[in-house]
Order: sequence, then structure tokens, then C-alpha cells
Amino acid sequence: MKGLLVVLALFAGVFGKETFEGHQVLRITPIHEEQINLLKELSEQDHLLLDFWAEPIHESLPVDVRVPFHSLQAIRAFLGYHEIQYDIMIQDVQDLLDEEQHEMMRSRVLQPRTSDEYDYASYHTFSEITNFMDMLVQENPNFVSKLVIGKSYEGRPLNVLKFSTGANHPGIWIDTGIHAREWVTPASGTWFAKKIVTDYGHNANLTAILDKFDIFLEIVTNPDGFQYTHSSNRMWRKTRKPNPGSICAGVDANRNWDIGFGGAGSSNNPCSETYRGPSAHSEPEVKAIVDFVKSHGNLKAFVSIHSYSQMLLYPYGYTKTPCKDEAELYELAKKAVTDLKSLYGTSYKYGSIINVIYQASGGTIDWTYNEGIKYSYTFELRDTGRYGFLLPANQIIPTAEETWLALMAIMEHTKNNPY
Ligand SMILES: [Zn+2]
Repeated sequence: MKGLLVVLALFAGVFGKETFEGHQVLRITPIHEEQINLLKELSEQDHLLLDFWAEPIHESLPVDVRVPFHSLQAIRAFLGYHEIQYDIMIQDVQDLLDEEQHEMMRSRVLQPRTSDEYDYASYHTFSEITNFMDMLVQENPNFVSKLVIGKSYEGRPLNVLKFSTGANHPGIWIDTGIHAREWVTPASGTWFAKKIVTDYGHNANLTAILDKFDIFLEIVTNPDGFQYTHSSNRMWRKTRKPNPGSICAGVDANRNWDIGFGGAGSSNNPCSETYRGPSAHSEPEVKAIVDFVKSHGNLKAFVSIHSYSQMLLYPYGYTKTPCKDEAELYELAKKAVTDLKSLYGTSYKYGSIINVIYQASGGTIDWTYNEGIKYSYTFELRDTGRYGFLLPANQIIPTAEETWLALMAIMEHTKNNPY
């Protein structure tokens, strides 16, 4: 009996988590429209189980795709036959995942008792991040509080840290981790939380911001998806709600907002990574933010943080029509990415979503902008594809540090330009 249990435990250990042995990430460089169209057709071949990290859009943008081992030969033959250029970005995805796990185990040897002991240079689970938030609140009871703005589909609390020095301040919102596999974003969010506590009262600029504004920070915006990336599938992006009538679960929480819902750049196929959901705000994780924005009623900046590709974007994504604050948002983005670059030389592209990347309907910041939050921005953090979603942990702190400079630029501008 005991032997059987051991075997079962091993079985669960080995097969409970999806492995990516032999999977490669290819960077494909199409040079004309015909090749783009070929790649689009390729992306519709469901049996190949391709995972497009960067989809084929137009010739100026490379295409990144994770190819399962069993499809590699077919893809190489396809690309070769059509003379489409590609490079291997990641030789074996599982090697990077093993390295990542090893790093997390190393960090876990010491359980932090205070937020000072927390290992900001490592990736963490949902429960570890929740413990961190509780420590920060406990250590700063007059400054930091934890709001629960709702529950995820699987019942996890949607925690938002509130940094506040007084009543009735207007608010600045920052969220990270709405896409589950973009691990560097909640890791950066955790670092931001500690940075705010450390700098308040010491850094004159941040102190001036907090004397006028509350900052709201949702670190794990899609906790079910995030948990799933730790327990089952590191490559998961969407929420985890089942889709009736489909074997595929989850919705793209950045296509689920009530702005151009159902338009181009979102999918009606529940198995797609950009599945928009059955209706706008169908996902409890999205609805909770919608309700919060409306009930607060006085948010002045809204920043939603993703990875990867090093971009700072503003509305719109769903339409070509420029938003009415285009000129100001452009100038501020330029200032923010200049500040960001000053630290480690990291280059960012910037502009409206539809111009810099592609048409995407139902996105977060199009909705918040149309709700009257002028300073609505989306970041795509490091890198530009060398590691993609699997950014090594030793880049967490540099990423957070440089991003913080851009966030400070946006927050200061918000403070100096009341509306
Ligand atoms: Zn994302």
C-alpha cells in the first residue's frame, strides 16, 4: 500500500505539472505581407499547439512562438520551404523553468519575518506575496492598508494595497499580473510597494505625491491564473473560469472590458489566448476593478503593467481615432521612457496601442480613459524577447528600479496637472 502511495505521489509530482521539454521559442522575422499571411494561417493550425508570444501583425514586428517538441520538425520544414527567416531564442524551455524553480527553492530557505527580509530578487507564489502584503500593512498601520475589492472565480481575495496619508485624496491606480505568466510584473509590484514605504518621508518627490494622492496597488490581479502558473502550467495567461461548451478554460482579462468589446484584436474562440469572454466584464477579476473605479470616482491616473517587449502605451487600442489627450500623453510617455532609460539604458517604444503594437479591443486602459481617467497607461516590461515571459530572476530588481522612474514621472505629472 505504502509503495503504491509513493508511486502515486511520484506520478502526481511528475505529471501534475505540464513540462516543456524540448519546446523551443523561435523568433520569426517575416519580411513581407505574404509571409505574414502564411504565419497567420500557421497560427490557426490548432493541432500544432503553437503558443504565439508575439503574434504575426505586420512586417516591422518579429513573431515569437513557442513550439512544442512534436511540432518542431513540421515548423522548421514550413519556414524553410517558404524561405522565412527565424532564430532560436530559447533552445529548451524546460531548462529555463528548471533554473527558475531552482532559484525559487533557494530563496525559500529563509522564511521572511519582515518585509526587509523578503527576497525581492526572487519569484514568489500567491501565498508568499499575500504574506508580504500582510507584513507591510502590519509594519505601517497608519500608512498602508489592504482592501479586498472582490473575489476571483476560484474564490481568492482580490487584494489591493492602499498607501494613504489622509482622507479624501484622489487616487492613482497601479496593477500588475493581470496576465498570469508575466511573472516579472507582480515581482516588480512587490518591489514598488516596499519602495513606496521606504521613500515616503525621505524622497521629496514621492512625499509630495502622497501628500495629495492615495496610491492603490493590485499586485496579483489574476490570482487564479497566477496560482495555475505555479501549480500546473507556467505558460498560462488567462483567467481560470471554465467556458461552458468548451474544453478550454479562461478569458483574456485584457480583452474583457466594455470598450469596443468584441471588436478586432480579440477572439470569440474560448481556446484562444485572446478570448474576450462571453460578455464585457464577465470575469470577476475585471468586474472588481470596474466597480472599484466607479465607486472611488476620483482616480486621476491608471497604470496597468504587462510584459514583455519594452513599451509604454496609451489609448486607444480599439480604434484608430486618436484620443483627445494624445499630444499630452505622448509627451509624458516620452519623458517617462527617457527617465527609465537613464538608469540601465533600457530602450522603450512608446505611443498609442494601435499604432505601436496592434488593434486590441476590450483592453483595460481604453476603458479607464473613457471613464475619465486621463493618465491611463500600459507598460510592457523587459525584455524584448531573449527570455520573454521567462525573464531570469536576477533581472527583477533592475526591471522594477527602472520602471519606478517612469512611474514617478507619470505620478508627478498627474500631481502637477490637476484636472
Ligand atoms: Zn500581458
